[in-house]
Amino acid sequence: MHVHPKASYREVLEDANAKGYAVGQFNLNGLEYLQAIVEVAEEERSPVILGVSVSSMKYIGLHYLTALADAAKLRARVPVILHLDHGPNFEVVQQAIRGGFDSVMYDGSEHELDRNIAETRRVVDAAHAAGVDVEGELGQIAGTEDEVSVDEREAMLARVDDAIRFAEETGIDALAPALGTAHGMYRTAPEIDFGRLENIFEKTKKPIVLHGGSGVPDDDIRRAISLGVAKINVNTEAQMEFNRIVREKLDNDPKLYDSRKYLGPAREAVKEIVRKKIRLFGSHNRY
Ligand SMILES: [Zn+2]
Repeated sequence: MHVHPKASYREVLEDANAKGYAVGQFNLNGLEYLQAIVEVAEEERSPVILGVSVSSMKYIGLHYLTALADAAKLRARVPVILHLDHGPNFEVVQQAIRGGFDSVMYDGSEHELDRNIAETRRVVDAAHAAGVDVEGELGQIAGTEDEVSVDEREAMLARVDDAIRFAEETGIDALAPALGTAHGMYRTAPEIDFGRLENIFEKTKKPIVLHGGSGVPDDDIRRAISLGVAKINVNTEAQMEFNRIVREKLDNDPKLYDSRKYLGPAREAVKEIVRKKIRLFGSHNRY
């Protein structure tokens, strides 16, 4: 077994593609989440990616985030990657790069292709100059609350030809193409376009990132990994479990005032979700 605790986002995803597993991105929504994610990663000897949304960056504060992640990395014997999720523009991405993030996602999916390529290229140049890796988004990944017709769905998915251009012209390290998954909790299982996924991976050779991993059936996850998915983002499932426990503890004991008595059990519940995903993704016993 090799120990590469300093492996980069790119190295971690390339290893995943080479060996046929995927690395989980779990969101750092607060201290309990960080502890849960890193503890399980250590126990399972799995690399892990800490996803930070822009709203969490604002809520927690950039200086706390990087200090917390550094504290975790210092002791970890597995790769722990601090990653900006859905950076909306160059300025926010630049803040994360300067703040010490290991990798950033730039989400230029609101723009048409040429503009998305140009903006993503600009981010890649700045990020790579600082030793930071970049994930780009192509097509539009919906929210589960969005009402999307069949035609709209087709228009939102990433096109294979666009993906080839996007990968070549931007120099990104990983690609998040819209493949039919959505953010949030599904009412019915999502329909992943596996043919499109296979085609995009074969023609770009970039590690593929699957957003909206909460609630995707296990068999679909395994199939997606076998076709090139190297990173899977999971957030909603962990949050729902965290909230379920907090609600249960407070409802059962109206006099409870010690926050640790409900946050601690909620942290344990997040650990079990993360463990389940790590084993499903096959990233355990890798380091
Ligand atoms: Zn996402």
